[in-house]
Amino acid sequence: MTKTTSNKPEINEQQAAPNVCHTTQWYEGPTIDEHTLHDDLTRHFYYTLGRDKVGESRLYLYHALALTIRDRLIARCRETRLKNEKHNRKQVAYLSLEFLMGRSLNNAILNLDLEDKVRCALNEFCTALEDVEQAEHDAGLGNGGLGRLAACFLDSCATLGLPVTGYGIRYEYGMFNQEIDNGYQVEQPDNWLREECPWETKAPDYSRRVKFFGHVEVHEDLKGRQHRRWVNTQDVLAVPFDIPVPGYNNDIVNTLRLWKSEATDEFDLSEFNAGSYSEAVAKKNLAEQITMVLYPNDASESGKELRLRQQYFLSSASLQDILAQWIESHGQDFIGFTDQHVFQLNDTHPSIAVAELMRLLIDEHGLSWDKAWSITSTTMAYTNHTLLPEALEKWSVRLFERLLPRLLEIIYEINARFLLQVAQRWPGDVDKTRQMSIIEEGDEPQIRMAYLAIIGSYSVNGVAALHTKLLTNGLFNDFYQLSPQKFNNKTNGVTPRRWLHHCNPALSDLITRTIGEQWVNDFSQIQKLANYADDEKLQVQWQQVKFDNKVKLAELVQERCGVEFDPNMMFDVQVKRIHEYKRQLLNILHVIYRYERIRNCDTATMVPRCILLGGKAAPGYDMAKQIIKLISNVADTINNDPLAKPYLRVAFLPNYNVTAMETICPATELSEQISTAGKEASGTGNMKFMMNGALTIGTLDGANIEIRDAVGEENFFLFGARSEELDEIFRNHNPSRIIEATPALQEVMQLLTSGHFNLFEPGIFQSIIDAITSPTDPWLTAHDFASYIHAQDEVDRCYQDSARWAAMSILNTAASGPFSSDRTILEYATNIWQLQCNATPSLA
Ligand SMILES: *Cc1c(COP(=O)(O)O)cnc(C)c1O
Repeated sequence: MTKTTSNKPEINEQQAAPNVCHTTQWYEGPTIDEHTLHDDLTRHFYYTLGRDKVGESRLYLYHALALTIRDRLIARCRETRLKNEKHNRKQVAYLSLEFLMGRSLNNAILNLDLEDKVRCALNEFCTALEDVEQAEHDAGLGNGGLGRLAACFLDSCATLGLPVTGYGIRYEYGMFNQEIDNGYQVEQPDNWLREECPWETKAPDYSRRVKFFGHVEVHEDLKGRQHRRWVNTQDVLAVPFDIPVPGYNNDIVNTLRLWKSEATDEFDLSEFNAGSYSEAVAKKNLAEQITMVLYPNDASESGKELRLRQQYFLSSASLQDILAQWIESHGQDFIGFTDQHVFQLNDTHPSIAVAELMRLLIDEHGLSWDKAWSITSTTMAYTNHTLLPEALEKWSVRLFERLLPRLLEIIYEINARFLLQVAQRWPGDVDKTRQMSIIEEGDEPQIRMAYLAIIGSYSVNGVAALHTKLLTNGLFNDFYQLSPQKFNNKTNGVTPRRWLHHCNPALSDLITRTIGEQWVNDFSQIQKLANYADDEKLQVQWQQVKFDNKVKLAELVQERCGVEFDPNMMFDVQVKRIHEYKRQLLNILHVIYRYERIRNCDTATMVPRCILLGGKAAPGYDMAKQIIKLISNVADTINNDPLAKPYLRVAFLPNYNVTAMETICPATELSEQISTAGKEASGTGNMKFMMNGALTIGTLDGANIEIRDAVGEENFFLFGARSEELDEIFRNHNPSRIIEATPALQEVMQLLTSGHFNLFEPGIFQSIIDAITSPTDPWLTAHDFASYIHAQDEVDRCYQDSARWAAMSILNTAASGPFSSDRTILEYATNIWQLQCNATPSLA
């Protein structure tokens, strides 16, 4: 990609935007030499923030530095927007209920190439950049993989220079903080805005009104045409907060627009006049509830009214925002809108946008149904993230009728017209009509949001090859048969800026010294490393970097868990949301198996390991919380047994988040990706580990399959049932018989049932034991155990040959090119969004 300098003649020439009074001086934004940086830092510290004592708090220094950098970002953001407008470029709105951004300071410094200058500017304050960075609170506005994907996508879109705006919710409270008390998860609120977020700018002049409740009236116009009016509504104001999203070294800055709900200014006059002034004002607090808190459920739907309000709030505000921009330049003429706009729906969460765009175009802008539908169904695109039935969102018709009555009418109409198409395609097939209807019949009729999303979109994509195959062959097969052209795959990716360059600077330097620096701008070049996999000198340096990173992770584990990790031992890691399908339980059974071997003095071939687990459980997910308790108890028992110390250390790291992952993935040697086949749509943690040279032990699931294909089967530890074998396995599944027939598993289960890990807490693990032994265990824990243990033994064998392990590690990083989100986004851009990419690096 070409690197441009900070002054863009194109923009200087541009006709001064009308109604904008400015001197070119401030309009261009402050320069980024170290003197102005230092001056601005000082000014923000002493004046914007009103501090006087240098060194009194890293927090204020962080704020001052963030504001200094934000000034530079805002200038580039404005230029980016003007340039896109000038060239009339097609735009994408990426709608997502979650953006798991993590910290922004280091990312901005990296992308603007400011590190040396910032260090200089900080000199006078006698504080290291690293210390200032520690003061930043993670922006944790997401649960896990889905939200982090949205964040990686924003980074890649800006880096590729694509006009993509993220639209989300500015939750007052993000993902809860997890504490561990006596082995149990305790949730603490994440008040991330307490010290304010210096990156955001409030833009109240772009506020939008969002309607709720009320009812629909029909009236006729002079020509006798019927119109419907949604009246008597209770309105909420959506106020935007903009966060800049810088591209890597290209002076492009896109925007993440997050909506906050606020009360409108009207008072309920009757209450007001009745002397209930305070009550009338207090009612307005209800409006602010909408964006108060992120729902902490990963991959499951909770059915709560407030959640539906969040979804509609985001969808309506964002669509209004785009339509208002359009009307400003085109008036009420929507011809050509489809060529200029795409709405990408991140899962079904914002899928009410399909009906809302219809409502806005018909009710507010006077379009006919057919015109509105032709626009909607050619601008909406939907990404599916899961096959788990509990995650497929459904909302009761009754709730819709009360909360969003006009939207319900529109959904009925969309459904009626769609079912005519179904009847044409499958004449007389009543079952088909019932199966494909947006409305699920029953005592409590439900709206199937995924069906609404598919019917209303021109593109439906899965997030890894296997996942897309399972969607088209299984879950959405009827829809696939009706419109096969809609369906496509976009395998997920992660941004190599955050997940290699920033989080693993030592490895990045080593890579650059080995293959040159082009890989930073064009990540497909990383494959050149493969030529050096057997280079002994590189192997030694590679292992030294890994060792140093292990020392840092060991410090974190010591501080957070009080467990001593020895960097001379293998670091074996599983961090991700706690979920039965991800099978942390299988991991812990393997830990117990090792412990049992140690107790039996069967350690001759055993490689000493430090095993780290981490992740949050949804607060209402009992089994997941039980699993955390089991991990904690097993860890305690093992860590307190002097016999185990030379061979095994186990820790559960509390509060796994983006920032923790930045220390974890560079230090990991073995990445545990052990979900039940067919359940993990893609996974992205697997990609971060691979990029940083970890080897994967995993099932043939999600993107693991593509990872293994890329790196070669000899560099991947495969185990477990395959998705195509599942039907056959479940036909006569008998975990108890498997346990009896597998001595290793039998011993593990005996130790577990004997209460060895819960001596003073009798019976607490009974539900876990029952789950493993249940003939209907959907997660196949017992079934996959022997195969898992076998693969783990193979891991030990490979690790003992350290040169071989180093080569395998280098080959993993070398093969991680396709798992850059730049590759993913380039596919979205060319294939779904039909955007022209002017700066296109060649990608794997
Ligand atoms: C990458 C990431 C995830 C996703 O991990 P998976 O292993 O793909 O489930 C979840 N949480 C955080 C904080 C992450 O960085």
